[in-house]
Amino acid sequence: MRQKIVAGNWKMNKTLEEANILASEVSGMVADEVRGNAKVIFCVPFPYLTAIKGVLGNNSRIALGAQNCSEHEWGAYTGEVSAPMLKSLGIPYVILGHSERRQFFGEDAKLLAKKTDVALKHGLTPIFCCGEPLEVREANQHEALVTKQVEEALFHLDAASLEKVVIAYEPVWAIGTGKTASAQQAQDMHAVIRKHLASKYGQAVADKIIILYGGSVNAANAKELFACPDVDGGLVGGASLKSRDFTEVIKGAN
Ligand code: PGA
Repeated sequence: MRQKIVAGNWKMNKTLEEANILASEVSGMVADEVRGNAKVIFCVPFPYLTAIKGVLGNNSRIALGAQNCSEHEWGAYTGEVSAPMLKSLGIPYVILGHSERRQFFGEDAKLLAKKTDVALKHGLTPIFCCGEPLEVREANQHEALVTKQVEEALFHLDAASLEKVVIAYEPVWAIGTGKTASAQQAQDMHAVIRKHLASKYGQAVADKIIILYGGSVNAANAKELFACPDVDGGLVGGASLKSRDFTEVIKGAN
């Protein structure tokens, strides 16, 4: 059985005060209302990591992640944050290759392969994002593109390293648009990704890889999406910014 994960991607939202309130509300609701053992992750803006860690205290159901890291470890890279820095803060997860990073910051497969390596080297778990834009889906090239994204950024890893990576399939046309992939569309792509992993690493390894769905996941659709056999939870943007909504999404994985 793969671990179910529900990760909230706060993106560039919230003041520190609002962030503290959100974290403490979700933490309380999860403790009071959520049964089951799905792992919850808050992927918060860099400057809030330490404060939110304090808010969570020793709540072992909720872990923290960053939303990006540098491909470099240390040095003269003004404005960047590195994997060893995150490690030194006690942060276990980092989102890599989110479509917004690819689109607005020009991140490509070669860079993401490097970021994945540096994250793994420092013991962080990458949440590696892939997903096709609308025109690619309409041209029926989505499977080819997504398998290529996975292959180019991850297939240089050995099996033991790959097993430490969480993959998030996020169709770009579903991110922040209110337009969710249907459960069938999500399941189909997750199965394609897993099959592609199996073609390189064997079925036993592929069966261990956690693959999250992202793109307009909300309280109303989470349960159906997370019930698909190859969907191991979600990466959630908008609905992670409100404590009640996010708690309902978490319940969908339990
Ligand atoms: P959304 O964002 O849930 O707001 O669509 C998901 C994401 O970008 O990770």
